[in-house]
Amino acid sequence: MSPGRSPNSTEPRWWEFRSARNRKPSTYSCPLCGELLPSLSDHFLLFPEGDHNRRRHAHTACVLAAREQGRLPTREEWERAQQGWQPRRRWWRLGRPG
Ligand SMILES: [Zn+2]
Repeated sequence: MSPGRSPNSTEPRWWEFRSARNRKPSTYSCPLCGELLPSLSDHFLLFPEGDHNRRRHAHTACVLAAREQGRLPTREEWERAQQGWQPRRRWWRLGRPG
């Protein structure tokens, strides 16, 4: 993902998160870095605008890094942003499994 990419009109406005660890071995590709993600490792499920049918598996580190950069807003943050509220950098910590 290059930093200068043009905005995608279909890009979700907000995301729902859930920590995940699969029991069945499978391999996904992380949408944030494009690298492979073994399902048996701790990672996050991302639901674009809460759509569970479009869930993506992403590395925990990638999600946390994106959050630190102000990307991947939650629905609450997005709604507040519509009202002119700017999220702080250290507002919310994602729960890590275990
Ligand atoms: Zn990743």
